[in-house]
Amino acid sequence: MVKQEGDLVCLSLDEVHGLASKGLTQNGASSEQARSVADTITSAERDGCKSHGLFRLPGYIGSLKSGKITGDAVPVLSELAPAVVRVDAANGFSSLPLEIGITALAEKAREQGIAALAVNNSYHFAALWPEAERLAELGLVGFAFVTAKSYVAPAGGIKPLYGTNPMAFAWPREGKPPIVFDQASSASARGEIMIHERDGKPLPERWAIDKEGNPTNDPTKALAGAQLPFGGYKGGSIALMVELLAGALIGDMFSFEATANDTRDGGPPKRGEFLMAIDPSKCVSGGGFSQLAHAETLFGEILGQEGTRLPSDRRYESRKITPTEGITIPKSLYDECVELAG
Ligand code: NDP
Repeated sequence: MVKQEGDLVCLSLDEVHGLASKGLTQNGASSEQARSVADTITSAERDGCKSHGLFRLPGYIGSLKSGKITGDAVPVLSELAPAVVRVDAANGFSSLPLEIGITALAEKAREQGIAALAVNNSYHFAALWPEAERLAELGLVGFAFVTAKSYVAPAGGIKPLYGTNPMAFAWPREGKPPIVFDQASSASARGEIMIHERDGKPLPERWAIDKEGNPTNDPTKALAGAQLPFGGYKGGSIALMVELLAGALIGDMFSFEATANDTRDGGPPKRGEFLMAIDPSKCVSGGGFSQLAHAETLFGEILGQEGTRLPSDRRYESRKITPTEGITIPKSLYDECVELAG
C-alpha cells in the first residue's frame, strides 16, 4: 500500500521500478527494454533528478503507444575502427543500447587509451550522467553528448534551432563516487520549464523568450517561444559542438532535422548520442604518478572555499536518503502512471 501525504504519494525505489517496468511492458516494451528504462527512471528518482524520473514515464509510454518507438528493439553492436564502436538502437529506447555500448567502449578505451561510441537511431528521454558516471566507475574519464528537439535559439536569434543539447563529463575517484557534471547547453532543461508550468511557477530570468523574442518568465509562453543558451553565445557554441558531435560526426540528425522527422507524440525525436572514454593510465609516461591523487588536491582546494560544492554532490546526498526514505511524486502523476500500468 503506497503512502499518501496530501497531494503527494510516497514510493520506495522498488515501487518506482515496478511501476515503470509494468507500465512499459503493458504497453509493448520487451522485458529487457522495460528493465533497462525502469533502471534509468529509478536512478533519476533515487538521485533527486525529478525531471527525468517518473515524470517522463507517460512520455515513454506515449511513444510506445503511438508506434514511434519499437518496444522490443534489439540493439546491434558493431566496430567501426579499432577505437570506435557503434550501437544501432534499432528505433528503441537509449538505455539498453547504452548498457551494451558502454561495455564495448570501456574495453576499447583500455586497449587503445581513448575510444569513442556512437549510438544511432535511439530515443533518449533521460539525463546523461548515468552513462558518464558508469564510465568513471569503470576507472575511465567519460564524456557524453546528445542532441534534442529544436528548442533553443542560437545567440542573437529568436527561433528554436539547437536542442537543449546536454553534455556530461565524469572523472573517476579512488574510494569515492566519481565527479560528474551533466548540464544542458540551454539555461535550463526543457523538463524544468514543463515542471514550472505544471506547478504554476514563474521561470527565472534569462531562461527563455516568447514567440516575438521578448524575455519571458511565463513557462507556457517560453514553451511556445524559444529557450536561451546558458551564458549567451558561449552556451550557444557548446550547443553547436554537441550538434556536430552527436549529429554530423556520427551520421545522425541535427536537432532541427530530428524535429522535422518527429511524429510529435510528446516524446523525444530519434537522434544520436556520442560518448568518449579515456584511460588515465595510458596518459602519462612511466609509473609513479597518480593522476587521481593529484586531482584530489584540486577538489580539496575547491571545497576549502566556503560556499562551494562539487558537481554531483547534490545527487550523492539524495542517494544516501532515498533508498530508505523513498521518494515523493504528485498524486496526479502517480494516478496517471498506475492507469498506464493497467
Ligand atoms: P543543472 O543546471 O541542474 O546542473 C548542471 C550540473 O551542475 C549538474 O552536474 C549539477 O550537479 C552541477 N551543479 C549545480 N549546482 C552546482 C554548484 N553550486 N556547484 C557545483 N556544481 C553544481 O542541470 P541542467 O538543468 O543543465 O540539466 C538537467 C538535466 O537535464 C541533465 O541531467 C541533462 O542531461 C538533462 N537533459 C537531457 C536532455 C535529453 O534530451 N535527454 C536534454 C537536456 C537536458 P548536481 O546534479 O549534483 O546538482
